[in-house]
Amino acid sequence: MGASRSVALEVLINGPISRSDIARRLDLSPGSLTRLSTPLIESGLLVEVEERADGRAGRPTKPLDIVPESQHFLGMKLTGDEVLAVVTDLRANILYSQSARLDSREPEAVAAVIARLAEQLSEHVPSVTAMGVGIGGLVTEHAIVRSAPFLGWTDVDLGSMLENLTGLPTVIDNDVVAFTESEHWFGAGRGADRFAVITLGVGIGYGLVVHDDIVIDGDSGLGLVGHWPLDPFGPLCPAGHRGCARSVLTISAISQAVSAALGRPVDYDEALTLASDA
Ligand SMILES: [Zn+2]
Repeated sequence: MGASRSVALEVLINGPISRSDIARRLDLSPGSLTRLSTPLIESGLLVEVEERADGRAGRPTKPLDIVPESQHFLGMKLTGDEVLAVVTDLRANILYSQSARLDSREPEAVAAVIARLAEQLSEHVPSVTAMGVGIGGLVTEHAIVRSAPFLGWTDVDLGSMLENLTGLPTVIDNDVVAFTESEHWFGAGRGADRFAVITLGVGIGYGLVVHDDIVIDGDSGLGLVGHWPLDPFGPLCPAGHRGCARSVLTISAISQAVSAALGRPVDYDEALTLASDA
């Protein structure tokens, strides 16, 4: 199962890809690759696509690719005020999206909102394989929200709650970790074996991929990089640090600084437009 999963993952991330490239990257013999890939093709997960003309002589072999519409997934982003929900294909292309306000931050109420969105979005596709939920906070075991300040949660087993409500295999993770993985597999980081992600928003997030693997440690999701000192003469953050990342790089810090400099109210979108025009 492990080797078969590796083949599927290689094609998911790098496909369409030739059999010789897969064999080289996974250190498999041509015979082993055929043995592993045939059941994946027969199950409808992988497909042989038309080769691209590369001008080389020899027996033509058709590259392998995945069939994106063979599986569907639900993705949820949970903030302090709302849930943003999407249903995607296997390559994380968004097919439908929906959102719902949170009237209560009680875990049971939030789980019920997520389950209702899951049910509504599932109606658009033949079946759903699994669900992923991204949350601003510290998450362990891909299930338990140890701390989520925006929601006021500690030690909430959101994974089990949602699996019981929806019957779907569910993965909960820190939202920046989830975003970094999605950039790694499907976005700007695709094909790069090391890169960093920095997110600016209500807070500051940081994700890192090294040797083609995301770096996760006990501090991931605590938001420590948000208080990284950047400017010894900068403004104070709410925790009292002078010139930390949070004090100068959040959406509100940027729009406040630009508004002060121009002597009129400037929101974040206009600040970005002004920056790109400068
Ligand atoms: Zn700070």
